[in-house]
Amino acid sequence: MKILVLNSGSSSLKFQLFEMPQATVLVKGLAERIGEKTSRFVANDFEVNEPIATHKDALHLLTDYLLDSKQPILKDTSEIAAVGHRVVHGGNTFVQPTVITGQVKDKIRELFSLAPLHNPANLTGIETAEEIFSNAKQIAVFDTAFHQSIPIENHKYAIPNNFYEAGIRKYGFHGISHQYVSREANKLLGRKDIKLITLHLGNGASATAVLNGKSFDTTMGFGPMNGLIMGTRSGDIDQSIIFYLLEKLNYSSADIQNILNKQSGMKALAGSNDLRDIETAANQGDKRAQLALIMYAGTIKKYIGNFTAQMNGLDALIFTAGIGENSDVVRDLATKNLSFLGIEIDPNKNKNPKKYQGDITGKNSKVKIFIIPTNEEKEIASQVYQLIY
Ligand code: ADP
Repeated sequence: MKILVLNSGSSSLKFQLFEMPQATVLVKGLAERIGEKTSRFVANDFEVNEPIATHKDALHLLTDYLLDSKQPILKDTSEIAAVGHRVVHGGNTFVQPTVITGQVKDKIRELFSLAPLHNPANLTGIETAEEIFSNAKQIAVFDTAFHQSIPIENHKYAIPNNFYEAGIRKYGFHGISHQYVSREANKLLGRKDIKLITLHLGNGASATAVLNGKSFDTTMGFGPMNGLIMGTRSGDIDQSIIFYLLEKLNYSSADIQNILNKQSGMKALAGSNDLRDIETAANQGDKRAQLALIMYAGTIKKYIGNFTAQMNGLDALIFTAGIGENSDVVRDLATKNLSFLGIEIDPNKNKNPKKYQGDITGKNSKVKIFIIPTNEEKEIASQVYQLIY
């Protein structure tokens, strides 16, 4: 059974075609800078650089490739049984992968106010795929869904209740990634009744406490700015700073959004949001870069402590995404001096994790420490497969 996974951004479209249930990748690629003059389309080793006006044009390029490449991958697009769409915000409504109907689209539209950058683009992807793959089932998989299991004491804010009733609560994000790596960790440990912390450290970053296979708490909240320090987002700050900027320093609300979303985090601390540059600068003695790395790892440690206390223990700590998978420096700093919690990495394994299948647990560590590469597309394909098969 062939399942196409789409991740639509406002000017991009990432795709992977899977043969399920083996999860063999038949095609992987993306269209980027859609609507601009310098668009690019890549599918496996095929690449074109020509203007792509719309998401529909991008999907036409994909179908042309699938049907007409030197060795056609499909005889007919009707071979695609289902299209799985990553949808960022599912609000309180969506806790499972969901077959897309008119009502589901209306609800995704209602949630535009909660995810103004993402949900509109996700809906464009859905409506385009409905036209082009009209025989396929269209399924939405939500990035917030995994976190709907977070209990009320962890998802409610201590503000007047009418706001809670209006939907102001912790939603959490990166759910598809946290769910994927936590399940992989369950497989590695051969059990599901365990206490995990999953650290998704990419440009955006979040940590999740996963108790018995379910999200129990997470660092992102109502929006994606809270919690860990990120590439360009501040993570936790004192709310009074916002009012001070607004009222005393006369910044507009749009300015503040821009500052906290795009000008903060590692970019503000070290002058770059690319961790590789920061590591190089720190190695060359740059004090700002050194401090930025200590602060970055420090917020991770704070949440390791918080979540371990909440779960009354920890069986495994999981590192994933660009930084989690690749930066031995961050993994080292984030786990330093945690032997009190039973957390110790093996410095040699941490430097050569591939040689040890990502298991970097130290000899005396009570907690297992794994690097597990995330694969959101595969997770979407398997959730879609389970729903329709
Ligand atoms: P996104 O959230 O955009 O998907 P990624 O998961 O790809 O982001 O992570 C991007 C981050 O990973 C960047 O800060 C990048 O510098 C960092 N990164 C990628 N490779 C390495 C590496 N080899 N060493 C350190 N950091 C890395």
